Amino acid sequence: MTPDEFRRYGKQVIDWIADYHEKIESYPVLSQVRPGEVAAGLPDHPPERGEGFDALLADLDRVIMPGITHWQHPGFFAYFPSNVSGPAILGDLLSAGIGIQGMLWATSPACTELETRVLDWLAELLDLPARFRSDGGGRDGGGRDGGGRDGGGAVGGGVIQDSASSACLVAILAALERAGGGAAARAGIARRYTLYVSSQTHSSLEKAARITGIGAANVRVVDVDPVTLAMDPAHLDALLTEDTAAGAVPVLVCATVGTTSTTAIDPVPEIGAVCRDHGVWLHVDAAYAGAAAVCPEFRWINAGMEEYADSYATNPHKWLLTNFDCTALWVADRQPLIGALSILPEYLRNTATTSGEVIDYRDWQISLGRRFRALKLWSVIRWYGAEGLREHIRTGVGLARDLAGWIRDDPDFELFEDPTFGLVCFRPRWEGLPDEEADAATLSLMERLNASGDLYLTHTKARGRVLLRLAVGGPATVDRHVRTAWERVRQEAGQVPVGR
Ligand SMILES: *Cc1c(COP(=O)(O)O)cnc(C)c1O
Repeated sequence: MTPDEFRRYGKQVIDWIADYHEKIESYPVLSQVRPGEVAAGLPDHPPERGEGFDALLADLDRVIMPGITHWQHPGFFAYFPSNVSGPAILGDLLSAGIGIQGMLWATSPACTELETRVLDWLAELLDLPARFRSDGGGRDGGGRDGGGRDGGGAVGGGVIQDSASSACLVAILAALERAGGGAAARAGIARRYTLYVSSQTHSSLEKAARITGIGAANVRVVDVDPVTLAMDPAHLDALLTEDTAAGAVPVLVCATVGTTSTTAIDPVPEIGAVCRDHGVWLHVDAAYAGAAAVCPEFRWINAGMEEYADSYATNPHKWLLTNFDCTALWVADRQPLIGALSILPEYLRNTATTSGEVIDYRDWQISLGRRFRALKLWSVIRWYGAEGLREHIRTGVGLARDLAGWIRDDPDFELFEDPTFGLVCFRPRWEGLPDEEADAATLSLMERLNASGDLYLTHTKARGRVLLRLAVGGPATVDRHVRTAWERVRQEAGQVPVGR
């Protein structure tokens, strides 16, 4: 493709994307295709001779778009939002266009230095502890506790990972390095290492246990409060004591701020104190909810971080207007992370690395190669400013609270809890139906709503009951979309004669 051809098709593609976002409401939110339908529209064999780009764009509309679930549709309320925005798309496009591979500082210094700076910015925007910043918060002399909590000269910093799942895997590897003095990395898993989660912790922790060789059987599940679903620090303490006495080496505790199921919040200060007593790494997973801390009124979610957290992750690719993939991971001490993941083969040796003056982000992640993801985050933060980011979060939270109010006022529905963030969990009461049938009715209601194409929501099970999850937070979602969704839910729920 010549630069002129690129220019021509590039403009078409930008127009296509702008048109798509303009008319996104005309699509059914959830793709209605059957399994195999998209594949059936594609040729069995690749073309022998190159084709024009027009042919591809035509097939995009004809074959691909019917198989798309429109995550950016304002009626998309499933899972958690996966925000995109104009500046993020453009930043991502620039990253593709520049086409670098940022594995080492030397392979493009700007890729590393922009990422470090932008994550320092984000740490400041979220009011994270100064020791998570690459300079311990000392650049403007404002460091409150620069140098790390144990005064051991620890230097922290942030890195962009592809996902919160990778962030927790990387945190576990760093924690293993610290707990085992590097033995696990060098000699393999020779002892019984243990991880601590709750029933509400994201499934990526168990996956990481399998990947690291710690083993799913060594993931200890701490009790939760039956009502709030928050981890019980006393039970955590008991499990740690029991495991240590039995000769196991506790490696990492994962506390969650905003669980995936219901946005429950683990008591990080109390969990942190237990972690410190037992010398265990505390990872805080705030994949979805962490973004809320751009607003001062949400800074309380950072409680305990300053004193206790060894690592913290949040996903700008969920609620902070930045295209997937962009997970921000910070560590309070980069040394165990680098110790766990650094290998220097001859072909990667270079003077910058040897000088020790630079960050080589390949040592902060699983893979060697990495994209220039900082560009899109930089682009988002500059375009919106702190003010714009706060407004986005507040809009989502406000709409969720409105919806919660309507649910609370409707005698036919039960609100699980007042929403803290943008997720509202609720269910029809199905008065007169036994629990099991009521749960089945809730699921069938959800399936009918999703099949309608007007909205898309998902479900969870909490306190023993099936709940609908309606997550607000897409940048295109405004008041009328939430109102319409609520009307649809009520209408559709009324279609089922109670007691059949
Ligand atoms: C969404 C989520 C994850 C997983 O995020 P990915 O980036 O998709 O891996 C992890 N933890 C929590 C609490 C989440 O909500």
